Amino acid sequence: MNKRVLITGGGRGIGAATARHLAGQGYHLCLNYRHDKGSAEALVAEILASHPVRCIAVQADVGVEAEVVRLFEEMDARLGPVTHLVNNAGRLQPQMRVLEMSAERINQTLTTNVTSCFLCCREAVRRMTAGGAIVNVSSAAARLGSAGEYVDYAAAKGAVDVLTRGLSLEVAAQGIRVNGVRPGFIYTDMHADGGEPGRVDRVKGQIPLQRGGQPAEVAAAIAWLLSDEASYVTGTFIDVAGGR
Ligand code: NAP
Repeated sequence: MNKRVLITGGGRGIGAATARHLAGQGYHLCLNYRHDKGSAEALVAEILASHPVRCIAVQADVGVEAEVVRLFEEMDARLGPVTHLVNNAGRLQPQMRVLEMSAERINQTLTTNVTSCFLCCREAVRRMTAGGAIVNVSSAAARLGSAGEYVDYAAAKGAVDVLTRGLSLEVAAQGIRVNGVRPGFIYTDMHADGGEPGRVDRVKGQIPLQRGGQPAEVAAAIAWLLSDEASYVTGTFIDVAGGR
């Protein structure tokens, strides 16, 4: 097998769990990170020590076009062109109501969560000349709206869902599948960025399954959508949200 996956934001959280899962399935991996070099390099070392795959970490801010182009070119040179893409990088900003949001904040949220996804899809599709698969990591927020917390983020994930559907139709005839996963409340460091590290435990009583989710539970859905087992699945979504 010569599957080469790029995972944006692959050094921590859901991206790291996905990297571990896919390494176990024999994928060669390019793990992108933005700031946290230590976590990304430690994960590369862990994967290389435990699986017979190639694995590299590449720094790039995926919201910046020139950095995305460099990221894919570095992967071309060091691993070979991408065959599978997980658009996982994403970020929350501090909780606030829409009434308080500045244009600067809204644009930052859209750049990090939406523009990044468009750019990485573009670079991947250009390389997937023999077909391929893309999974965009959206959020249950796209359905729920995140009122009083981060409507900007929820709107960004709504845009990711529309990108997923639209791009899937553009590239289906080329043998490229594009799907999304929508996690609910998952135990990662992301909630600290939003100003509430204990957020999952605060809301878990409102989740039908009565608990928060683990990154590995999201990784399993991503891996299935990337896999040949999902060969007739495109333009659709898996909610990994405990029934919410
Ligand atoms: P996390 O633990 O905070 O990890 C976020 C990752 O994204 C980090 O690796 C970070 O890089 C990377 N990143 C952020 N901005 C970036 C940029 N501009 N360029 C490159 N990398 C960037 O978050 P997570 O919970 O695993 O989130 C992963 C995805 O799941 C996100 O798209 C998020 O919106 C989505 N999601 C999460 C939840 C949840 O409850 N956790 C729910 C729904 C959806 P560094 O390590 O270098 O900082």
